[in-house]
Amino acid sequence: MELKVDTHLQQLTQILQQSWRHIRTERMKATLKIQQAACDAMRSYLKSVGFMELLPPIIGPVTDPGIRGAKQVTFDYYGREYKVMSSAILYKQAAMSGLGKIFFMSPNIRLEPIDSASSGRHLVEFVQLDLEIANATYFDAMSVAENLLCAAMNTVKDECKRELELLGRELPTFSPPFKKFTYDEVLELLRKNGMKVRYGVEIPWDAEYLISKIMDEPFFIIDYPRGARGFYDREDENRPGILRDFDLIYPEGYGEGASGAEREYRYDRVMARMRETGEDPRKYAWYLEMLREGIPPSAGFGIGVERLTRYLCGLNAVWEARLCPKVAGVYSP
Ligand code: ASP
Ligand code: MG
Repeated sequence: MELKVDTHLQQLTQILQQSWRHIRTERMKATLKIQQAACDAMRSYLKSVGFMELLPPIIGPVTDPGIRGAKQVTFDYYGREYKVMSSAILYKQAAMSGLGKIFFMSPNIRLEPIDSASSGRHLVEFVQLDLEIANATYFDAMSVAENLLCAAMNTVKDECKRELELLGRELPTFSPPFKKFTYDEVLELLRKNGMKVRYGVEIPWDAEYLISKIMDEPFFIIDYPRGARGFYDREDENRPGILRDFDLIYPEGYGEGASGAEREYRYDRVMARMRETGEDPRKYAWYLEMLREGIPPSAGFGIGVERLTRYLCGLNAVWEARLCPKVAGVYSP
């Protein structure tokens, strides 16, 4: 049985209700083999350059609020409100303050809007390789990101020839550094290609698809405007309103693969940013106490494992890269 990708919600529901059977297809077995090779390669690359892997906390009083319109999962924890991690960002900074260079392979839950079901690139439940580097800039983080991607790609090309062939996927070879475009430059490029994006907002999916389709190599979009991101992306002191952050974008229309930034780690600045984005500082008590005591500056990023798998395997949709996937609005095993 081969999987047919259909983005229509009803058809998708029908397909995903059988998701426990998909693991028996040659296509899915090849996909997961490639995923495993990519994860092993990323782990060994990171360990070889001094990162330590930690087990990720997945529940807590607060979680990442910067999740592009998705909702957090809240549950009752012995009479108090707790969250399931939408990303490990807050714990990454805590871990980095003790160990310097750390990463998690962290499950994340985001209740994505229902129209994301047909985007081919959103899952409600996914895994992120999430890392943080003490005393680093966002350029340092981008350099790790491109080396990490190349390590995964090269290993998959070496070790998964049969699987790539089965999936009909040919992977090129890339060498860092990848091109970097500022948010402003991307808006200009989009405009030239007939698509207008209002300055100050996140780049919408259709625009991101277009820009990714135009490119034939992975690249970075850097320097997003302040309104577009969470309070933890650091504002450039010499360029007010501009954040020292980035997204890694895959070519061929696959879109965003990773997001990262230099962090705002100073208590007063974080308080001001929280006020601006409407966050309630009382909920962040432990985090703010940590900042008040002082942590090193840092930079890091999170790279989605299923999106990486989708790109490496050339899959139509990200849900094909996961056993029993959860897609917005679809009730399935
Ligand atoms: N928290 C970001 C995300 O999950 C990643 C990062 O900035 O490290 O998209
Ligand atoms: Mg992102």
